[in-house]
Amino acid sequence: MLLLYGDHHDHDESPPRDGGTGSWSKSRDFANDPQRAAAVAEASRADRERYLTSGLLPVDCRFCHVTVTVRRLGPGHTAVQWNTQAVQRCAYFSEIRESGGDTARARACPKLSDSIEHAAAEGYLDHPDDD
Ligand SMILES: [Zn+2]
Repeated sequence: MLLLYGDHHDHDESPPRDGGTGSWSKSRDFANDPQRAAAVAEASRADRERYLTSGLLPVDCRFCHVTVTVRRLGPGHTAVQWNTQAVQRCAYFSEIRESGGDTARARACPKLSDSIEHAAAEGYLDHPDDD
């Protein structure tokens, strides 16, 4: 599960594409060469994967003691990757489950948000290669 935070909107948002090259449709150029097309599609997928997972840093929920991976997308935008174990062990999500709620609709563990904010404030989430 991937949760995205933003300061000035209320809805989920997709992470930005890399540089806006808009080159995902290039595989069309290789219509006569299925193998090449497949290779290009695979490379695009790998690129996207790398983009989405690069810079992921583990942050511990200091309340539930679960670890999620966090990537800072920009000022006020943080992507949080919850693994299954974290979702199961997080006390906040457990509470929602026990009261019959839907964890998929839950924003995030507020305690973890605190931990992430703290990590961000300490510069832990800043990457030297980012601008
Ligand atoms: Zn938690």
